[in-house]
Amino acid sequence: MSSANGENPKILQNFIDGQYVDPVKASSVKYIPVTTPHTGKIIAQCPVSTAEDVDKAVEVAKKAFKAWSSRTVKDRVQALIRFHNLLYTHIEELAELIILEHGKNKSEAIASISKGAETVEYAISLPQLIQGKILEVSRGVSCQDARVPLGVVASIVPFNFPIMVPFWTLPIAIATGNTLILKPSEKVPLTMNRVVALLKEAGIPDGVVNIVNGTVDAVNAICDHPEIKAVTFVGTSHVANLVTERCQKLGKRVLALGGAKNHLIASPDCNIETTSTDVVNSFSGCAGQRCMAASVLLTIGSQQALLDRICDKASNLKPGSKPGEVGPVIDKLSLDKINSYIAESERAGAKILVDGRHWTSEKTEGFWIGPTVILHTNKNDKALHDEIFGPVLSIYESSSKEEAIEIENGNPYGNAACIYTTTGATADWFISRFNAGMCGVNIGVPVPREPFSFGGINRSKFGNFMDITGDGGVEFFTWRRKVTTRWGTGDLDLKLKM
Ligand code: NAD
Repeated sequence: MSSANGENPKILQNFIDGQYVDPVKASSVKYIPVTTPHTGKIIAQCPVSTAEDVDKAVEVAKKAFKAWSSRTVKDRVQALIRFHNLLYTHIEELAELIILEHGKNKSEAIASISKGAETVEYAISLPQLIQGKILEVSRGVSCQDARVPLGVVASIVPFNFPIMVPFWTLPIAIATGNTLILKPSEKVPLTMNRVVALLKEAGIPDGVVNIVNGTVDAVNAICDHPEIKAVTFVGTSHVANLVTERCQKLGKRVLALGGAKNHLIASPDCNIETTSTDVVNSFSGCAGQRCMAASVLLTIGSQQALLDRICDKASNLKPGSKPGEVGPVIDKLSLDKINSYIAESERAGAKILVDGRHWTSEKTEGFWIGPTVILHTNKNDKALHDEIFGPVLSIYESSSKEEAIEIENGNPYGNAACIYTTTGATADWFISRFNAGMCGVNIGVPVPREPFSFGGINRSKFGNFMDITGDGGVEFFTWRRKVTTRWGTGDLDLKLKM
């Protein structure tokens, strides 16, 4: 167990072939300190693995693929059924790790594990879902298709959901018969480091799931490795684009989810109580570090009563890790970035309606900033356009629904968008015009849950155009073998006549 007081930071290892192992170049390997955002203290040291570690993981994953892919899907998911139980018996322990290394509050940590468990449930259902098609396409000729695993695949994940995002890919990738290399975020490597031991305990064979810790070198080695057949990435748009280009140069299958700037629109007929609660939960939950978090609220016309309720609710939130409290942001770099956007908005003439910056000065350690609400009058303010990734809501009063949709459509991302209204026709008008992959009506975090797939458009998603999770995940992690068969009936007719 890692130490929260920074006295004995745990030295992490990679997990290859069912064993925790030191990086190949153990004598020269560098380590990155992992800090807890509550205090900034070092709780672990994460190895910066090299291409040699990726090679080693690929070698064992390739070997494991032979036996694993030859098992039936029904057989493979038995271990996932046992793992699902283990996930819930260890939910408290895993939630504590998430709180420690990421800073989520207790209910957010538990919810993120349950959401991860949902993709496990989907994978467990695959024997019922992925049978191929078969049809007699002309007399005596049948066509059949079957899903075939790709081989060794890899997932590179961000810091903001230590367990949920790795579980967007892991269960479907392995249930469909692939073997996996996971590159966790160096900022939150502890949770998955523990989860792989539970996968082993559940009976997932050695070499089927491997962890290579690290940063850029490990990611580049994954993209470049000829034996890694497909790569998923989740993180900032800049890196998503780099990873996509690198993989595509080799003709590799790649799906890379990027950043977001999600717009919520409040129609004058929205329900003020439910809208204000939802908007505040959306922009301040997980300290705003969700790719589905609200970051811009466009009111149609001035809606003072709604703004007042949002400000009341946001300013009543407290820092901490109990359910309902707002946790810290991941690190100093992130805290400084968030603060700089608030300061720049203020300089540009925006009004800070709720100012969370006092949390930073009140807390003597860690990376804290309270929910902050900014009212902009200039559409060009940077905070209205860039991904800030903190508990900050930018509000702009648009003059009409046409102006609101023009602003939403003009943003380069395309993850989520939501309309708050009590009128079906208004909801339909916006839903059919939003430029976002995941749209909501009166739901600030419109995450499609299993069996639906998850994914945005534009600069929120790069690579081969499939979605992650659900049937998009199955499509991504398999290829279709089409078999056309003609046996003829002649011999049988002959035998029957004899
Ligand atoms: P990040 O891009 O900094 O890191 C993601 C992963 O890439 C990490 O594993 C990291 O080690 C690696 N990495 C970082 N820089 C790299 C580089 N130059 N070359 C190669 N690899 C590199 O992202 P983050 O800060 O960990 O996560 C937050 C971001 O993730 C936000 O932009 C958020 O919107 C996005 N996100 C998107 C989704 C989605 O579904 N679209 C979901 C979750 C998070």
